[in-house]
Amino acid sequence: MTTEACSLLTLAPDDMREFTWGDYAKSVPRWCPGCGDHSVLTSVQRLMADEGIAPENTMVVSGIGCSSRFPHYMQTYGFHGLHGRALPVATGIKLHRPDLNVFVVMGDGDCVSIGAGHWIHATRYNTNMVAMMLDNNVYGLTKNQTSPTTPQGHKTMTQPRGSYLPPMNPIQTMLGVSNVSFVAQTAEWLPPHLFATLKAAYNHKGFSFIRILQRCPKFTDDVFAGFIQHPEEVQLLEHENGVHVSALERTHKNHLAHDPSDMAAARQLAEPSEFARLGVFYRNDDCPTYDETRHVPAHGTEEKMKLLTEEFDRHAI
Ligand code: SF4
Repeated sequence: MTTEACSLLTLAPDDMREFTWGDYAKSVPRWCPGCGDHSVLTSVQRLMADEGIAPENTMVVSGIGCSSRFPHYMQTYGFHGLHGRALPVATGIKLHRPDLNVFVVMGDGDCVSIGAGHWIHATRYNTNMVAMMLDNNVYGLTKNQTSPTTPQGHKTMTQPRGSYLPPMNPIQTMLGVSNVSFVAQTAEWLPPHLFATLKAAYNHKGFSFIRILQRCPKFTDDVFAGFIQHPEEVQLLEHENGVHVSALERTHKNHLAHDPSDMAAARQLAEPSEFARLGVFYRNDDCPTYDETRHVPAHGTEEKMKLLTEEFDRHAI
């Protein structure tokens, strides 16, 4: 566990430093060769350089799993915590230090199984942070155990005759949570799309959830192979308020216009399909963050509380 968050610094207003992605790189990652986690790490470091994010003003929080080694490889503050508990730690950090950039890294077993309760409520609280769920459809660190997103019939160490249950759909789950404000899906084998999605999430005010489809060549080599070999099976959701990646125009021609403010359409698109749909499913830039709401009673008036209640009612699902 790294606990380096004792004295975080803020960036001086006249600080004109420029960063490269190498400024955020720390030790050499120990992930398997070909693991999709490498691609996500590079994209997050590129995003930080692109946005000029000060390393000393940034916190990367993770739970337990292969991808949760992330904070060890970042030249920022980090907290490698307990299984399923990344989000409550990150929420606490953000509420105490709203000036910090907070990134959360979770695996599928970490986030949508043992951490599912925290996941739902962190979404509802809508604290301003980027939450990445790296979904390789398996518990990799504990050597090939069925996770909630393992495809039905896929053989694992814990279910050698094949996973019994249909997989959970994290995007559908997110779109059913009240006060949800940003839900996107991308794939690590498409770095330009991954980068654009991270950028949209970072610049969204609120809890930005990204499901990142992630290859695990060790245990689930086959699950995304079809989408990689047949780009026409990847459908890119596009809109001016979503992501558009010109670098993929020649290779990925299956596009669908989708306005991410349309919740009903987002829910339809999240249903199981033959396509891997990538893009911003839903965003609501007017959702009040928990920070904004919790300060009202202390400083506000009855009128403010009334407005706030109306605001929540408008966004209730
Ligand atoms: Fe990556 Fe899978 Fe190896 Fe874990 S087991 S480091 S997820 S390839």
